[in-house]
Amino acid sequence: MSRRQKIIKLLEERDFSVSELSLLLEVRDKRVILEDLKRIAKSLKHEGKVLLIQPAVCRKCGFVFRAEINIPSKCPRCKTQWIEEPRFRIELR
Ligand SMILES: [Zn+2]
Repeated sequence: MSRRQKIIKLLEERDFSVSELSLLLEVRDKRVILEDLKRIAKSLKHEGKVLLIQPAVCRKCGFVFRAEINIPSKCPRCKTQWIEEPRFRIELR
C-alpha cells in the first residue's frame, strides 16, 4: 500500500492532524504530508468522496483560520504561534 493509500484509509476511519499522520507514517517532513493531502483531495473527487477540513484555531485568542491544506505558523490577530493544527478526514459526499 502506498503512503497516500495509507493516509486515505486512516482518514476514512477518523480525523487526523498532519503531525499525527507524520508520526504514524514516520514521515518527518510535514510538507510531504501536506502535498499528499492536496493530491488526495483532488483524486477523491472522482470517487464520490470529499476531504473535510476542520480549520486551524488559535489557542490563545480563538481566531479560526480558513479551512485549507496548510499549517499556519502564527495567528494574524494576536501573533502567537500557539496554534491548534487543522484536522482532516474523508467522507462520502
Ligand atoms: Zn490569536
